[in-house]
Amino acid sequence: MTLSPAAGQPASASLERLKAQVLEAGLCVACGACVSLCPYLIFHDGQVAAPDACGLETGRCIDVCPQAPAPDPDQKRSGLLQALGRPQALPLGPVREVWWARALSPDLQGRVQYGGVVSTLVVLALQEGLIGEAVLTRAGQNGAPEGVRARTRQEVLAAAGSIYAAGGALSALNQALSEGADHALGLVGLPCQALAASSLAAHPRYPQARRLGLVIGLFCTLNLSARGLRGVLHKAGVGGAVTRSDFPPPPAGVLEVSTAQGTTSIPLDQVRPVVLPGCALCPDLSAELADISVGAAEGRPGWNTILVRSVQGQRLLDLARAQGLLELIEMPGESREHLSIAAANKRARAKAAWKERANG
Ligand SMILES: Cc1cc2nc3c(=O)[nH]c(=O)nc-3n(C[C@H](O)[C@H](O)[C@H](O)COP(=O)(O)OP(=O)(O)OC[C@H]3O[C@@H](n4cnc5c(N)ncnc54)[C@H](O)[C@@H]3O)c2cc1C
Ligand code: SF4
Ligand code: SF4
Repeated sequence: MTLSPAAGQPASASLERLKAQVLEAGLCVACGACVSLCPYLIFHDGQVAAPDACGLETGRCIDVCPQAPAPDPDQKRSGLLQALGRPQALPLGPVREVWWARALSPDLQGRVQYGGVVSTLVVLALQEGLIGEAVLTRAGQNGAPEGVRARTRQEVLAAAGSIYAAGGALSALNQALSEGADHALGLVGLPCQALAASSLAAHPRYPQARRLGLVIGLFCTLNLSARGLRGVLHKAGVGGAVTRSDFPPPPAGVLEVSTAQGTTSIPLDQVRPVVLPGCALCPDLSAELADISVGAAEGRPGWNTILVRSVQGQRLLDLARAQGLLELIEMPGESREHLSIAAANKRARAKAAWKERANG
């Protein structure tokens, strides 16, 4: 790994370390945690850049970066879980309840990714006053994802669906935290974002971040570079606004992208070159640091898997159940076993990738 401190800056400065160890090393997954936390970092078109030097040796940027090399990544995770009063339990992280579920509201159909559990829970958390505002990801200019703050059902539904590209939503969280309000904030984020959000909330020099009151995590195997995805779509002849994208389960082997003109299936070998290289080093499939995690339900289209992880997550799910917002069914043991194996495999692949990197 080459250190390239900006002219006159010590290599030990936090921003210089972030640049050398994460940005220039190609590990950044554009979670956005360092952006809007520090004026020296900017986010544009899916990428983080540090055009100026900072020089501070105790900057927070490297502390909160989920991709910063750590002597023992599992220990960092366990420490954050301990601070949250939750046990580490591999391979899925802390789990109180497991369900398959889908939202019952008929107007969600065609707008949400699968079962609409995430959007339903966010709207409920806002309506019940568990949070005053939620940070989500939606398509911005050029279709590139960006963080957005939502307070109403309409705003939450405007961000429904998955964008398979990194959108830096945590920069919108930092902006919200800088405004001096006191309402609790919610976040919907990928596992790397749930980890970074926990690091923000636990940071001794970021007391404002204690306002983070709810993290809904998404399962994630990989993500794409926003610019790379645009190139792939262009090459495949997909023009206009994307209304839905999905990686259907194997053996499909494609990324499916829908626009007003129809649906295009793009073979995975055209997509793989634009996968963020940093994702290969990510051990977390199911957002272990979230209050409640949501993914697809294996073999059950239109449904979600839910992992309830914390007291706050439990409270939200219990409210949804009491208000008849979700249809919940028991997740079959075989599917739970498959999920555990997938999570363990992702952790093992990441461990091997870190080792390979360390060995040069
Ligand atoms: C990059 C990516 C990879 C994923 N990989 C997997 C996987 O391997 N296995 C699996 O089971 N599920 C995966 N998911 C999760 C899955 O696609 C759904 O998001 C999840 O099941 C919730 O479904 P839903 O119907 O409740 O979502 P909805 O109610 O439609 O809500 C979706 C939420 O996702 C948020 N969102 C959209 N794009 C992004 C983004 N790029 N970054 C952060 N948040 C975003 C939106 O703001 C919205 O709040 C992935 C999602 C993404 C974005
Ligand atoms: S991974 Fe997140 S915190 Fe780390 S450099 Fe990229 S945007 Fe910043
Ligand atoms: S694979 Fe990991 S690092 Fe990559 S986007 Fe998903 S959660 Fe983030």
